[in-house]
Amino acid sequence: MKTRRPIIAGNWKMHRTLGEAESLVQGLLIELPDLADVDVVLCPPFTALAKVADLVAKSPVRVGAQDMHWEKEGAFTGEISATMLRDVYCRYVILGHSERRQYFGETNASVNRKAKAALAASLRPIVCVGETLDQREKEDFKGMIRTQVRESLAEISGDDAEEVIVAYEPVWAIGTGRNATPAQAQEIHALVRATLAEQMGAKTAARIRIQYGGSVKPANAAEILSQTDIDGALVGGASLEARGFAAIVKAAI
Ligand code: PEP
Repeated sequence: MKTRRPIIAGNWKMHRTLGEAESLVQGLLIELPDLADVDVVLCPPFTALAKVADLVAKSPVRVGAQDMHWEKEGAFTGEISATMLRDVYCRYVILGHSERRQYFGETNASVNRKAKAALAASLRPIVCVGETLDQREKEDFKGMIRTQVRESLAEISGDDAEEVIVAYEPVWAIGTGRNATPAQAQEIHALVRATLAEQMGAKTAARIRIQYGGSVKPANAAEILSQTDIDGALVGGASLEARGFAAIVKAAI
């Protein structure tokens, strides 16, 4: 019996204008089951955050951003701070997504700065780790994942650490339709938890929620989510369709 509350987050990436976001959220609110036993987070693009927060305000659904800067304010053209995200009722922020690492130079060190700034502003960071196919085939990819966890969450402990959500997302499974098998995912989730235990202590590690991400869909969600160390899902493509995303949420309950 798992004691950690499951958490399903939808990463909309660079999809949905305001009008489209409104239709998607309205559809979702109709489709979603009773959310007493699961956390649901929608992560639209920055432009739709305030709108989505307004639409879900009377529901238990929470809103998250897809990135942020670590400074509170300043001359950082194009950037958004944790304070600004709080201002539009964000409660979560995805950090270190593989697309940010791959296309925008995100590193474990920058993820760590952002995670600490998010926590200081009472935002829960969803910190992504995961290996590429090349790394899985050619390198000590498990060592690399342990380093990602250690460095991205350096100097975070105690109550703050328990607010963190880690998302294990094998890069080769993102948007490819090819998910890790439940056993492959569980193996790495256990490794992530063991790494967290070394870093923060077993009690804290046992409380941190670890999501799986990578081609999660209604058809595979229940089996993936039933694994001992899998506490939820970070969902990309399937979060853009109300019925499918709601089915994944139902699978988590
Ligand atoms: C993601 O981008 O975080 C993701 C898991 O995408 P998808 O579900 O489309 O593989």
